[in-house]
Amino acid sequence: MSEHCRSDNKRYVIIGAGMSGMLAGIKLLSQGNSNFSIYEKAEKIGGTWRENTYPGLTCDVPAHSYTYSFAPNPEWSRVLAGGDEIQAYFESVEKMYKLTPYIRFNEEIESCVYQDGKYVITSKNGTTDVADFVIAATGVLHHPNIPRIAGMDTFQGDIFHSARWDHSVALDNKRVAVIGTGSTGVQIVSALSKRSARVAHFQRSPQWIRIVENRAFTEEEKAAFRNNPKLLKDIQNDKELQENIEKFSQAITDPDSPAMLEIDQEVHENLSLIKDVSLREKVTPNYRPACKRIIYSPDFYDVIQRENVDVFVGGGFEVVPNGIKTEDGRVHEFDVIVLATGFQTDKFVRPINVVGENGISLDEVWNEGPTAYLAVAVPGFPNFFMLNGPSGPVGNFSLIEIAEHQWSYIEKLIERLNSAGKSNISVKTSAYQEFEAKRVKAAKNTIFATGCQSWYLDKNGVPATWPWTRSRFFEEMSAPNFENFTIA
Ligand code: NAP
Repeated sequence: MSEHCRSDNKRYVIIGAGMSGMLAGIKLLSQGNSNFSIYEKAEKIGGTWRENTYPGLTCDVPAHSYTYSFAPNPEWSRVLAGGDEIQAYFESVEKMYKLTPYIRFNEEIESCVYQDGKYVITSKNGTTDVADFVIAATGVLHHPNIPRIAGMDTFQGDIFHSARWDHSVALDNKRVAVIGTGSTGVQIVSALSKRSARVAHFQRSPQWIRIVENRAFTEEEKAAFRNNPKLLKDIQNDKELQENIEKFSQAITDPDSPAMLEIDQEVHENLSLIKDVSLREKVTPNYRPACKRIIYSPDFYDVIQRENVDVFVGGGFEVVPNGIKTEDGRVHEFDVIVLATGFQTDKFVRPINVVGENGISLDEVWNEGPTAYLAVAVPGFPNFFMLNGPSGPVGNFSLIEIAEHQWSYIEKLIERLNSAGKSNISVKTSAYQEFEAKRVKAAKNTIFATGCQSWYLDKNGVPATWPWTRSRFFEEMSAPNFENFTIA
């Protein structure tokens, strides 16, 4: 870190105290800058890990990789950690880095308006703040998608979305329907199959499954991690895992690559674990593996063969007061319906009203869908940066790693600004347009564009994601092309 950045005592407002917002706060503190606030709409940190508490919640990215690089955790209990353990990890980091005094809880930001070279930020409570820099760390998957399924309002049992789990509702020995086959639905069905009387999985589109082992770390292993920082670093940067992730990113960006064909073969072979041929056929997807976010599960194919689990494929069903009526006219009775139906994924910073230069709002700029130069900046919005914003890498990566690289990029931009003795930096429209044109062209050649519906697609059916490899993203983040920015 250069002197310029260290001496930057300008005011930052960070929106959101999830994984990315905490990262920004910790990084600012490490530079000796305590002139910031993190505004958080809820009463505690954690973002997605605070909001999702469903049974079976697990991160399918290995825990030691889903960890801040600067805060390794020798205590992870399993290769893939559960949601409560991840939330506890973030809370321990909050304490360790003494971040709490900088977080303004129960403050939902409503607007963020660029005026006279600064941003005026206002919360729903009427709190205002004026900042030189705004870091939007508002997450991606936080507005539940509640579908309009025929008859849904008539249901007399309990019905709720996976991210709004009602823990007062009993599930043991109950009859539960789970609608949705994303990573969430699969994890819920696996968990409930071990405790509910009946679980019915409504799969509008079946999914391809990669089978992962989720073994527990032994006490000896954890002690070794505690006592040997190098060992802990090694597992955090596990070379084989890194190579596999890179290979996966090559596969999704080049559907005809040998890497993709290997995944293709693997998931087809996994289907043979399903003994009943009609069930196997029923759950065989009609699109290419990894076109939707591929599912990692230790046991899903065992689960759907359990005696207490039924699978219904296709979208033809309606909710009736006592259950769900399938296309064949049969009524299946349920006590609980879980909507594992995903999220509205085109929101990002919105509904916050972000207004940039010349009074233009982000909502207007994102009329056709949210995009950002290198997933970080939008022209017309000086000094406004996003962590895990639109156009970034998605698809089974560690979003912590992505956010850390994005932060180091933002840091370099601000360093340059400070060393120039100026106060505003924004990406040029021409650079953004050129980037976006290349991104869209490449996105059309990714696996996500091979003929399936998923949250990765924009409203025109084009993947809204980073279309190149993960290593290319890291390269871009390591050295900003300052010619693409206006410094004033
Ligand atoms: P999702 O992947 O968007 O899946 C939503 C599911 O709901 C799909 O199966 C979809 O069917 C179904 N659905 C939506 N509307 C429906 C309707 N009207 N009728 C019937 N089915 C309907 O959502 P998600 O499972 O919550 O996952 C979202 C993202 O969260 C993931 O992609 C991932 O990025 C993240 N996540 C990560 C982990 C992890 O372990 N790291 C775990 C959970 C979630 P169609 O496919 O037919 O549209």
